[in-house]
Amino acid sequence: MPEIQNVAVFCGSRAGQAPAARAAAQALGRGIAQAGMRLIYGGGRIGLMGALADSALAAGGSVVGVIPEFLRAWEVAHDGVSHMLVTDSMHSRKLRIFEMADAFVSLPGGLGTLDETFEILTWRQLKLHDKPILVCNIDGSAAPLVAIVEAAISGGFARPDTRQLFECIDGIEATLERLRTLHTVPAETSARL
Ligand code: AMP
Repeated sequence: MPEIQNVAVFCGSRAGQAPAARAAAQALGRGIAQAGMRLIYGGGRIGLMGALADSALAAGGSVVGVIPEFLRAWEVAHDGVSHMLVTDSMHSRKLRIFEMADAFVSLPGGLGTLDETFEILTWRQLKLHDKPILVCNIDGSAAPLVAIVEAAISGGFARPDTRQLFECIDGIEATLERLRTLHTVPAETSARL
């Protein structure tokens, strides 16, 4: 199976309070570019999204933004990405990102980031895809998400193997290392989404 070529990253449209989050987004963008992988993301130039894209571009990487028309101005679309795909809705944005990605990385973020991460997790739970999902832990940022999943399992609302739907990885270096060792899986299912 071929190596991972296209990495979708979900992260905040705000930078958050911890400087480590911005540094992590920058390191991930740079690392993806240096590994020769293509970055797929939500197309903004603000917050962690902007930091991620800027550093991937500065390292000579290929960056694809996917943004819905109505968010283009509001979310301050990046004007320097390699390609910008404009969709007609949030749903088609998530589907386009899903279709293009070989793997997903979730960084710190707000409700949008959580929504995107959980949606890709639930699609995998429903066996609509089997693409790897890495939740990157930056100074404890992933703990609430892991706790929600574990609470669903212990409460009998999710099967114990739900925890295997994603890997929680400490820091950017280990995340990049994991991306380098993963392989693409056939995307047979997006027609069912
Ligand atoms: P946030 O984590 O809230 O800063 O949002 C990060 C990204 O998720 C941004 O590109 C938002 O446009 C996107 N987003 C926000 N809300 C949603 C939602 N309900 N569904 C999907 N994406 C969203």
